[in-house]
Amino acid sequence: MRIEDDSKLDYKDVLIRPKRSTLGSRKDVELSRKFKFRNYDSGKAGSHYQGIPIMASNMDGVGTFEMADKLAGLNLFTCLVKNYEVDELIDFFTSNESNRVENVAYSMGITGHDFDKFNAVYKVADKQLKYVCVDVANGYSERFSSFIKQLRDAFPAIVIIAGNVVTGEMTEELILSGADIVKVGIGPGSVCTTRTQTGVGFPQLSAVIECADSAHGLGGHIIADGGCTCPGDLAKAFAAGADFVMLGGLFAGHDEGGGEVITKYFKTGEVSKTADGWEEVIEEQKFVQFYGMSSLAANEKHFGGLKKYRSSEGRDVLVPYRGKIELTIQNLLGGIRSTCTYAGAKKLKWLSKCTTFVKTGQQYNTVFAK
Ligand code: 5GP
Repeated sequence: MRIEDDSKLDYKDVLIRPKRSTLGSRKDVELSRKFKFRNYDSGKAGSHYQGIPIMASNMDGVGTFEMADKLAGLNLFTCLVKNYEVDELIDFFTSNESNRVENVAYSMGITGHDFDKFNAVYKVADKQLKYVCVDVANGYSERFSSFIKQLRDAFPAIVIIAGNVVTGEMTEELILSGADIVKVGIGPGSVCTTRTQTGVGFPQLSAVIECADSAHGLGGHIIADGGCTCPGDLAKAFAAGADFVMLGGLFAGHDEGGGEVITKYFKTGEVSKTADGWEEVIEEQKFVQFYGMSSLAANEKHFGGLKKYRSSEGRDVLVPYRGKIELTIQNLLGGIRSTCTYAGAKKLKWLSKCTTFVKTGQQYNTVFAK
């Protein structure tokens, strides 16, 4: 047993120090980024990624076709859920929507079935299918990096996203195995219970800093996946060196996620005056179900229940229904633009170079916070 003594930090443990800047307005900030990927053999659909590097997670209620089309229209990215059928995926990728190629990833696991399913879709949709997200809860197994090697050898003309890991040496291993983008985060997610179930994890800000450093040294890229609770957290992730930020909870509860809207009624404890006297005020609130992809709910939906040797590592919650996603996105992007003006970064690309983090014990004033 060994203890690492240097402190590791989460988003909530830091703030970004404001700096003198010549930037006139937040509307001048450029959020779009351009990336060239290290292992991707760009024979076909253009050799660069260009867009606002925020991704919808491949979670139920988030990584849907509807979300993908909406976000692609706004130049953001979506990793689709794994459980779409081959025919649905082929239809989606081959239909005539040009921005799907650059803004949507197919997602898969690492079983033989996953490999065959991808092969079946790719055979037909090879021209339109550029990004593949290979996603497992624990990216540390030898089997995972072997699978990435196998996939890279079989499909040189795809951009491979691989995760999840939280340390530099495993980021390097995955990039050297053929991944272009490494997904970083174990345990920070809004509906994740891995840390309480297993005791395993790594504070997300430090994970992003360390993995970005390793990836960038090799010409690779990273995604900060999970743990963002507000626009400021996305800004901190980019400032820490993340090339992309992936969101689950912040994108949940919208029309594009497709979940059923559940209406509940609550007694507020207030009364209002009526012609006949007083009546209790009842408030109506709308919710949408949101659950982790390792939760009991997800296992029941996709695998007919939890296997005997597994426990649930995800929460099943109701999140407030939030309507269309545009306003949420405007709020996120507005926040990040503002961060860039405080830090003196005219482009999102420069934010991490412009950032000095200060450690803090209290991130914000909670006196009137709900
Ligand atoms: P959020 O943005 O909600 O904080 O985090 C989203 C991320 O949480 C996902 O992209 C995924 O990496 C992770 N995640 C999703 N479902 C589960 C789960 O059931 N258990 C765990 N440990 N992580 C999950």
